[in-house]
Amino acid sequence: MIPHTAIPLQACTWQEELSRAVRDPRELFDLLELDTSTLLSSLTAHKGFKLMVPRPYLAKIQKGNINDPLLAQVLPKGAELVETTGYSADPLEEASANPAPGLIHKYYGRVLLIVSPACAVHCRYCFRRHFSYQDNQPGRKQWQQALDYIATDSSISEVIFSGGDPLAANDNHLHWLTTQIAAIAHVKRLRVHTRFPVVIPARINSDCLQWLTETRLKTVVVLHVNHTNELGDDTHRAVMQLKAAGVDVLNQAVLLKGINDDPEALISLSEKLFATGILPYYLHVLDTVQGAAHFAVGRQKIDQLQEHLLARLPGYLVPKLVLEEPGAASKVPL
Ligand code: SF4
Repeated sequence: MIPHTAIPLQACTWQEELSRAVRDPRELFDLLELDTSTLLSSLTAHKGFKLMVPRPYLAKIQKGNINDPLLAQVLPKGAELVETTGYSADPLEEASANPAPGLIHKYYGRVLLIVSPACAVHCRYCFRRHFSYQDNQPGRKQWQQALDYIATDSSISEVIFSGGDPLAANDNHLHWLTTQIAAIAHVKRLRVHTRFPVVIPARINSDCLQWLTETRLKTVVVLHVNHTNELGDDTHRAVMQLKAAGVDVLNQAVLLKGINDDPEALISLSEKLFATGILPYYLHVLDTVQGAAHFAVGRQKIDQLQEHLLARLPGYLVPKLVLEEPGAASKVPL
């Protein structure tokens, strides 16, 4: 008798996961078995800022629950179409801190590179939802302008890969860019801001770990996790790979109404982050970007939440509560 051999299921590569991400609100409603009474407004909001949900993230959302805290981060809603006074397309005035294509220089000692205009997920509260990515997609020749800018300012000790999501770029490009930066003697650290290990953990593969660890630069990965349910075993494995490779892993969260504006949700997030190998770093007050006002949490509630966190958690698990103000010398602690 011929023995029955189980054929292992082939896991998707990160590129395959990107291409099979859900991009149509109708499919999202269908897959999550959602009540379709709000589908029409989702379709309208989706026209202004497209839906994008990769399937590993979709798997963490509870079916049939329109109030699921992960779904609320990615579902286009009619509320995004309301024009709100005090909210703008560029709340941090980044356009005025853009001295070279793809480079933003806001704070002393560090610069941010828009390495990729693409993301692995579209977060509805994103402060760059209206960012001019067309004007910030340098080719290799134009990257030279950004590299020259860094090389001529010896105060710059840290370069931040941002986006979009920098890990949406391919590893050859990231390797090349990291090598160019490492050749500038006064740069000491490379920081990578990414949501990939949360939404498509397969992105942390051997090619990615190679450029992250081969460099002489000290590397830090800053994740973006807002709710405990985003931290599954898949993310834990990706974080363990990063840490085993000597990369420090931190988290920045955004305080979001209806998602994590609750003491237990924030305490649970800090504890789960630490159990996953990630240190809570920042808790951001929402940036006043047009289309995201329905996520804003009032100042009184923010203060109460902060008091709860300080009273309940050890200091190293309390993220710094900050807001960004255009023109300020740093993030502003509250
Ligand atoms: S830049 Fe970050 S916050 Fe904005 S949509 Fe992309 S992953 Fe989400």
